Amino acid sequence: MSFEDLGLEPSILKAVSEAGYSEPTPIQRAAIPEAIRGRDVLGIAQTGTGKTASFTLPMIQRLSKGRARARMPRSLVLAPTRELAAQVADNFEKYGKYQKLSMALLIGGVSFADQDAKLTRGVDVLIATPGRLLDHFERGRLLLTGIEVMVVDEADRMLDMGFIPDIERIFKLTPITRQTLFFSATMPPEIQRITDQFLHDPARIEVAPPATAAATISQHILRLETKADNVKRAGLRKLLDTEGVKNGIIFCNRKSTVDIVAKSLQKHGYNARPIHGDLAQAFRMETLEKFRSGETKFLVASDVAARGLDIPDVSHVFNFDVPVHAEDYVHRIGRTGRAGRQGTAFMLVTPADGKQYDAILKMLGVKEIDALNIKVDVEPREQRSRADERPRREERGERGRGRRRTRPDREPSSSTREKNAAAPAGDRERPRKNAEPRRRKEESEDVVGLGDHVPAFLLR
Ligand code: AMP
Repeated sequence: MSFEDLGLEPSILKAVSEAGYSEPTPIQRAAIPEAIRGRDVLGIAQTGTGKTASFTLPMIQRLSKGRARARMPRSLVLAPTRELAAQVADNFEKYGKYQKLSMALLIGGVSFADQDAKLTRGVDVLIATPGRLLDHFERGRLLLTGIEVMVVDEADRMLDMGFIPDIERIFKLTPITRQTLFFSATMPPEIQRITDQFLHDPARIEVAPPATAAATISQHILRLETKADNVKRAGLRKLLDTEGVKNGIIFCNRKSTVDIVAKSLQKHGYNARPIHGDLAQAFRMETLEKFRSGETKFLVASDVAARGLDIPDVSHVFNFDVPVHAEDYVHRIGRTGRAGRQGTAFMLVTPADGKQYDAILKMLGVKEIDALNIKVDVEPREQRSRADERPRREERGERGRGRRRTRPDREPSSSTREKNAAAPAGDRERPRKNAEPRRRKEESEDVVGLGDHVPAFLLR
């Protein structure tokens, strides 16, 4: 089946083909014709399945006819984080380039006044995080009675973040005649209740998660005799030099390690840039764009910074550190081998990683991961005596009883993780002592904010 068979208009098909997509994904195949017919859709699909286009394409088609009225947007897309909202906006930009649709983005980091001016002029598409949307609504700057299509994206993530009451409220502010396109990776009872209440005879479309790790990712480890960082860096370079490495993400457990590894790689002539939550938003956005465009070959990342980023086409994932939590291993390696392509994941394993490595094997249900037979030589200038190592580690608070549980340069500890389990991804970057009210939190929730990156349509 091709995109032509889905009932889309030529101008949209042209934009899709220019985006480089020749075949619809399973969710697109099933959802687009139903949505074009005007039916509600309940899509049970996770990121990576092509779900975003499965709602943006039919929306563009529907909205291409008709005109927006002042303060009464014609459609609404709710996303849990501003990063996701910005990605949806990019999709509308990409596929809607031959339509004259107006858009506004109500998310933290984007000027309130500018978006308000757009709302006043009238918008076809309003993309928002729930809290920001209600802020505008409560200020009387917005009416939701003109909504023809409403999308809820990543509903289960909204549930985790405590947005469900907001979602219910927003549903009630929109007309009952609206078309609803609702997406969630899982269907916990609370989400089921919402869909039972607000969707009308939806087409329920469930698609398998994108190819499982085992099928498309070849996994290997490189055993090192010591956990010394200089040896690990030398080991990493060996891995980066292996055949077929087109680009990759290098995962480290700590932000400080991300910085050190990125600097070291740059010094050794590798095209690498760091990404973690303590770096300026503008820098993170620039890094992502350079990585997406291929200008930057290696992204050195922390787990939290990498979560939620849509980065296609990664040939390799490198685990510089064995992740502390086994489930992070699956998230990390899931960055390669997407959409049925072949990917490779490497991990450095030192004698100190025994417990964490065993937990990964257990989770994968395997006895061993293929161990590479690569010899790692450390250049003399990189060698450091044990005596040199010790004070450095103590400086970083890694040894002895005085070790702090949470350090500013660390990813959250497991206790912090539990505490923040319900917090937005970006908030998990650092332990929060006094949680701010949710509305405000949402403004800093994204992992990579817009910073200087303002989607082109906002500048028009
Ligand atoms: P999503 O699940 O919407 O986050 O999309 C995951 C990735 O798949 C994004 O990088 C999309 O650009 C890409 N994508 C969406 N539709 C297609 C398609 N029909 N063929 C190939 N890639 C696609």
